[in-house]
Amino acid sequence: MVRSSNDAPAPPLAPGNLTEEQRRGAACAHCGAPLSARSAVDLGSRPDADGVRIFPRACPRCAATAR
Ligand SMILES: [Zn+2]
Repeated sequence: MVRSSNDAPAPPLAPGNLTEEQRRGAACAHCGAPLSARSAVDLGSRPDADGVRIFPRACPRCAATAR
């Protein structure tokens, strides 16, 4: 599977550095943009650095490059 060398990988999620909105999926975990329920892409819940489960989501634009 060959991918274009043009699509730069998005920076990895940095649990612990996310805002409260990003932790609960109200804002994009990558760029911080406010998310609507319709456009948000679920990144999968995971435990944060402190063990608290977070629900990061991404806006469609970041999700397209963050795979
Ligand atoms: Zn984003």
